[in-house]
Parts: sequence; structure tokens; C-alpha cells
Amino acid sequence: MAPAKNHKKKSSLKSSVSSSSIDRGPKRRFQNRLLKWYGEFGRDLPWRRTSDPYRILVSEVMLQQTQVDRVVPKYHEFLGKYPTLLDLAAAKPDDVRKAWYPLGYNVRPYRLHSIACEAVEKYGSTIPRDPAQLQSMKGIGRYTAGAVRSFAFNEDAPILDTNVMRVLHRVFLGNGDPKKKTSRLWAMSEELIPKGKGYDFNQALMDFGAVVCTARKPYCLFCPMRDFCQAFPVEIK
Ligand code: SF4
Repeated sequence: MAPAKNHKKKSSLKSSVSSSSIDRGPKRRFQNRLLKWYGEFGRDLPWRRTSDPYRILVSEVMLQQTQVDRVVPKYHEFLGKYPTLLDLAAAKPDDVRKAWYPLGYNVRPYRLHSIACEAVEKYGSTIPRDPAQLQSMKGIGRYTAGAVRSFAFNEDAPILDTNVMRVLHRVFLGNGDPKKKTSRLWAMSEELIPKGKGYDFNQALMDFGAVVCTARKPYCLFCPMRDFCQAFPVEIK
């Protein structure tokens, strides 16, 4: 259990979030410390060495249901076979599914293939950057659209996957079920992006959730957010 002293601190900070807005102090601290942490500990991942929207999209679709360490070798292999959007669009859907193996969730390769075909037919063989156009494509939801805009087009677009939801909920709202606060967390994710730094900030958020503020064993005692995190310290069951 958290000590009484800590409860006091939490109740005084609860007011830091009202509807979707976050007080400047915690907001700045979170932004600065997250970016600093990312500068020191951010992961070196292959899709961070490209800004090709097609390659970013492939990585994001692969990461939708699969852990990073399983995605990395398949990402290289898949792009070796289908290096461009046009190559993927020209392929047979069943061949794409075979190339996807053993990642699982077989609907994803078919959807990726259909996105490639649509991009070729409707958008001049490019991945659109417009959020409405992106989300009109089957297989691209709000998160994936935000990731493509942010990581391929360098826009300050918010993202909210399971990891990001968990981090934002714990830091600014405390313990509880993030799924019950989805719209508020989307608003927070947007509000927190430091202007012009959406790429690094969003990558940092995802790494932080995967490495420090993990679901089962968060490293609260070593966490740079611990002095203002509303969930600190998370009990490990
Ligand atoms: S103190 Fe714990 S719960 Fe809070 S952000 Fe850090 S790791 Fe997550």
C-alpha cells in the first residue's frame, strides 16, 4: 500500500487535470523528463531509420498485435520481398499472407495489401497524410493514422495505444482502467505533444510504456516521473 504521505500528495495533485487540460507544471515536467529519458534510453528500431510512409505503415500494422522482438526480423524479410507500395499492391493476397507468416492474425496481411491497392488506385501510389483519408482505409484506425502522420510526415499528431494509455492514465489520473477514459486520454495525448517534437515525443511515450511503465512490473522506484505520478508506487500483484 502507498504510505499516507503519498496519498496526501496525490489528492493535492488530482486537480492537475481538468477535463482534457493538464496544469503547466506537471505537463512540462512530463515532457522534459520523457524526452530526456528517450535521449538516453530510447530503443534503436529499424523503422526509426526511415521516413518512408510505406515502411512506417508496414511496421505499424505488424506491431498492432505482435511484440517488437518478433516484428524486427519479419519487417526486414517482408520489405525484402515487397520493397515498395507498388510491389505490395501487385502481389497476390495469398502470397502476402504467406510472407506474413508466422506473425499471426491473418487479417492483417490482407488488409495491408488492400491498403496498398487503394493507395495505388486513389492516391497516386502514395500513402495519404490526411487523417480522414488514412482512417477511411480499412485496417487504419485512429492510432495507426496518428503513427503514420507522426513518424512518416513529422506531424504533431497524437497516438494512443495500450502502452500510451497506461502511462498517461497512471501519471495524470492514477490507478484505474484506462479503457474507461479513452476520449480523455486522446485529448491528453494531443495536448502533451511539445510543438514540433511529435516524432520524438510519441516514440518516447511508446518506449517508456514498453520499458519503464510496464503493465505487470513497472519500475516505479527508478522512474523519472515518480515525484508527480498519480499512481506511484504501483503495487505489483
Ligand atoms: S512512477 Fe511507476 S506508474 Fe508512475 S510513470 Fe513511473 S513507472 Fe509508471
